[in-house]
Amino acid sequence: MRLGIDLGGTKTEIVALMPDGSEAYRTRVPTPRTEYRAILETIAGLVVGAEAALGQRGSVGVGIPGTVDRISGRVKNANTQVLNGHPIDQDLTALLGRPVRVTNDANCLAASEASDGAAAGLEVVFAVIIGTGAGGGVALKGQVWPGPNGIGGEWGHNPLPWATADELPGTPCYCGKAGCLETWISGTGFELTEGRGHKAKEIAALAQAGEAWAETALQRYEDRLARGLATVINLLDPDAIVLGGGMSNLDRLYTNVPPRLEGLIFGGGPLRTKILKNKHGDSSGVRGAAWLWPVAE
Ligand SMILES: [Zn+2]
Repeated sequence: MRLGIDLGGTKTEIVALMPDGSEAYRTRVPTPRTEYRAILETIAGLVVGAEAALGQRGSVGVGIPGTVDRISGRVKNANTQVLNGHPIDQDLTALLGRPVRVTNDANCLAASEASDGAAAGLEVVFAVIIGTGAGGGVALKGQVWPGPNGIGGEWGHNPLPWATADELPGTPCYCGKAGCLETWISGTGFELTEGRGHKAKEIAALAQAGEAWAETALQRYEDRLARGLATVINLLDPDAIVLGGGMSNLDRLYTNVPPRLEGLIFGGGPLRTKILKNKHGDSSGVRGAAWLWPVAE
């Protein structure tokens, strides 16, 4: 069986997947945010508990809110900051007595959706989490492609493409640059740039009720998202792009963004890349962590 662990800011969850992808076990505990050693022990405790409950040993994958640097082997860019600077995969490998794979939440989404989700069986899948931030990940034949820097798919920190004069130079981003895609197309970015003090969900409801400014705001959002995704298609030409995170729940994206893409990609339409809503929702992190090991132990 495969064990997947999603290390979140407030909770840490484990799932056990059987070879057919069915869930045999799932539980969650609070994340001890302030102490690295306690996080390791929490993860180990969840693994031990799952294996005792099911009477078998599993492979272990872990999704974290950050990146493991491929050169140093240490965590960087994690918003659970006690993780930064630690070689978490090596530490968990030592603690659990087996190799442990660790990657970020967008890569987990890619693994989950490419394995048995919305893009099951498709060869090249780009997955995007548009929520608090804008993360991305690539799965090739169901396997995450982190790349030598561990940043494969991190397109949220590319600049907004085809920016107009009024979109430049853009808002400063926490990464040190300005005008990153994330500052426009994350839920947070959308609310800050277009929201007039409203949450994304409220803006969508207002647009549906015929409020003109809200409709314009969403059309601008769809245009910016399409501009961002068009550059992904020009570079990678994936079979599917799967959207996750809070903004992915806006159903209009799936009808409005593809026609815009046809006007933006090199050579024009018809667009053969599928733009899909994720299948596993909030479970993509934990399920994708389990799918980091493609073959059951
Ligand atoms: Zn940035």
